[in-house]
Amino acid sequence: MANPYQLVWQYKLSISLIAAMVGFMASLSMSVVRSVNPKLAIPSPNLNQQERSNSQSLQINGLIGDQKEIYEKMLAYLAEEEAKRLTFSVPVQFQGKTIRSRVLKNNAKVIALTFDDGPSSQTTPQVLDILKRENIKATFFVVGKTVKNHPQLMKQIVAEGHAIGNHTWNHQYHQYSPSAAARELETTATLIHQLTGVKTALFRPPAGILDNGLVSYAQQKKYAVIMWSADSKDWQSRRITVPKLIDNALQDAQSGSIILLHDGGGDRSKTVEALPKLITKLKQGGYQFVTVPELLDMPD
Ligand SMILES: [Zn+2]
Repeated sequence: MANPYQLVWQYKLSISLIAAMVGFMASLSMSVVRSVNPKLAIPSPNLNQQERSNSQSLQINGLIGDQKEIYEKMLAYLAEEEAKRLTFSVPVQFQGKTIRSRVLKNNAKVIALTFDDGPSSQTTPQVLDILKRENIKATFFVVGKTVKNHPQLMKQIVAEGHAIGNHTWNHQYHQYSPSAAARELETTATLIHQLTGVKTALFRPPAGILDNGLVSYAQQKKYAVIMWSADSKDWQSRRITVPKLIDNALQDAQSGSIILLHDGGGDRSKTVEALPKLITKLKQGGYQFVTVPELLDMPD
């Protein structure tokens, strides 16, 4: 079954594309009409030559003006839609709050997959391929110093419709002063925005540490602090088996869950191996997949 949130997203995108095409066609056809028929406006027969010429140019100018206005409106509309698509804001009730999962209306069978610590040249392309094949959108909590080295992957993540969250610049666990916390979040946010146009209001603290100064800064800045309710424990890397990783994720997967996975920060080959199986099991359980911003937008 098609995911309703993907449909909305695809619908918005197709509206944008149609608008762009209409605008482009309109501009093209108008220039064709003008070049084929320079006497686009038919002057009234009882005007003298000077008046006729004035009347023609006025009417042609009028048409060009209208068309230009429509075209500019379309461009403005497109820019606005694109900005909306790239702004991962959160509803007011979640701003500055810590969220582990959602309690959803009618226990809607909806779940959010999240991937931390990337992008990674080794793992992220494989994860993106699987998500594309499965027609699923997910959320990537990226680390600034890693983002810096993978601008193309960042662009790909966003172009393929996934959401982005801030996961600090350095991914360290020590205590932060307010100014050091600000640096961690702001440098990462700035780079994400420069590379992709994305503005994100999602923050995930490294290792889920809530009391070392990062979260208090994030909350002060009205980020939603996104934790998780189902931990695949793929971060155990060598110590975990693929079946155990899948079991861990499924064990706590329910309506409104946020599942913790990793596409960076080490060898994530087990995550890549487990992912298609995990998705299949969840689909068999009737779940649909949403990004974290979509999850936060759902009714409770
Ligand atoms: Zn992390």
